[in-house]
Amino acid sequence: MDCLFCKIIDGEIPSTKVYEDEFVYAFRDIAPIAPVHVLVVPKTHICCANKIDSENSVYVSKIFEAVPKIAESENIESYRIINNCGDDAGQTVKHLHFHLLGGVKMGWSKDSLGKTE
Ligand code: AMP
Ligand code: ZN
Repeated sequence: MDCLFCKIIDGEIPSTKVYEDEFVYAFRDIAPIAPVHVLVVPKTHICCANKIDSENSVYVSKIFEAVPKIAESENIESYRIINNCGDDAGQTVKHLHFHLLGGVKMGWSKDSLGKTE
């Protein structure tokens, strides 16, 4: 399958790993937008959040079990998790992933979603 993150999981494309278990792979984002910017992905190809179901949701559980461990190893107690699902949300890599962002005080504006138009 021609999927960037499947290739990263398989080691065909290099990445900076920060965590791995049977279900989960986590690595540093190549273009970080925060001091800590880790991508947490399932070790199976799920294209996006719309394709999470009862068959594969164990991967999502395992991702969220891994998050506190990753946060601890990154020395952050406070963080934001973002999932972009689909083109309008800005999903560029069609393999489910959660951005784990931290190490900086972040703003939160309910009247702005960073709209492009
Ligand atoms: P999204 O826009 O939500 O689909 O996020 C995709 C993320 O993957 C972006 O933040 C990119 O910077 C990141 N990315 C793309 N290629 C690589 C790569 N080879 N290694 C690590 N991160 C990558
Ligand atoms: Zn994939």
